[in-house]
Amino acid sequence: MRLKGKVAIVTGAAQGIGAATALKFAREGAVVAACDLNAEAVKSVVGACRELGAEAAGLAVDMANRQAVRDMVAKVLQQFGRVDVLVNNAGITRDARLQKMTQEQFDDVIDVNLRGVFHATQAVVDCMIEQQAGVILNASSVVGIYGNYGQTNYAASKFGVIGFTKTWSRELGPKGIRVNAVAPGFIDTPILATVPDEVIEKMRGQVPLRRLGRPDEIANIYAFLASDEASYINGAVIEASGGMTL
Ligand code: NAD
Repeated sequence: MRLKGKVAIVTGAAQGIGAATALKFAREGAVVAACDLNAEAVKSVVGACRELGAEAAGLAVDMANRQAVRDMVAKVLQQFGRVDVLVNNAGITRDARLQKMTQEQFDDVIDVNLRGVFHATQAVVDCMIEQQAGVILNASSVVGIYGNYGQTNYAASKFGVIGFTKTWSRELGPKGIRVNAVAPGFIDTPILATVPDEVIEKMRGQVPLRRLGRPDEIANIYAFLASDEASYINGAVIEASGGMTL
């Protein structure tokens, strides 16, 4: 068990990569605080973590709401006394070409994917500094390295998350806190629900492994980065895309 006794907050934990990460962390012995906008769906993830023998709590939170994020972290601290790992996973898409993108589409994505990561990290950082230990893991994307058609807002947020990662790894490394990002390619989760089948087929064809990734394949990376096995990895962006960007 690589995360035995570590208290981990996973945002966007109700489905997809976040749910897989909560379950993987539970299997690795972590105490899991599973947070999501979807309070109902997160309950079943908490139940599954408990079935695996882990201590777990579900918290409803809108990552775009700074005060709600601070309240969520305060509840985790009250219940479990510390935060060892924060996985900033919650994210959304609101795709449109530049000429068609509304300000609302732009703001929605920035509010969750970029501001949400800022709010959550600020809310846990004092506790981690006091502990002189902690791990912050941010969900970027290959879109945050290469850009993507129709994703002005999403690309800006995911490039921004890499900027956070590199900046915080410099600021917080001396305080015993490691900060890293994961940049997945196309992973088979509900976030792809709005992508037309023919586009998915085209994506699959671009991947040398000829398949989309699975949520558990990203969860495995988060578990490794959260563990002491990754003790010298700081400020890194780990791409997991099946070689799609080669
Ligand atoms: P998903 O849509 O399956 O799950 C996202 C979760 O975040 C949902 O449970 C949703 O309820 C929650 N969420 C959305 N808005 C929220 C908010 N305001 N507050 C709290 N929770 C909120 O997505 P996924 O595919 O599992 O993606 C997870 C992360 O990985 C995202 O940041 C995404 O951008 C990133 N990512 C995904 C892929 C992919 O292909 N699936 C690729 C690269 C990066």
